[in-house]
Amino acid sequence: MKGYIEIKKEICKECHLCISVCNRDCIVPSTEYNLKGYHPVSFNDNGKCNGCSLCAIICPEVAIEVYRD
Ligand code: SF4
Ligand code: SF4
Repeated sequence: MKGYIEIKKEICKECHLCISVCNRDCIVPSTEYNLKGYHPVSFNDNGKCNGCSLCAIICPEVAIEVYRD
């Protein structure tokens, strides 16, 4: 199964829990800033996301939405 995610960058608080659970390297840190001064994470569209939703489940800010093809 293939998937992709959308990250609501304005509510991301840069905790990187999502990065720690994604074993497919689909989420990466960024150097951009959101309005609260955090560096929101980015989706790395490497074709490996399977829509497992682990990132969305662990995100304390509910900043990730998962889609499956
Ligand atoms: S849905 Fe799964 S594979 Fe896709 S970014 Fe989230 S944790 Fe990684
Ligand atoms: S788990 Fe949520 S708040 Fe934490 S870095 Fe990932 S998207 Fe941002």
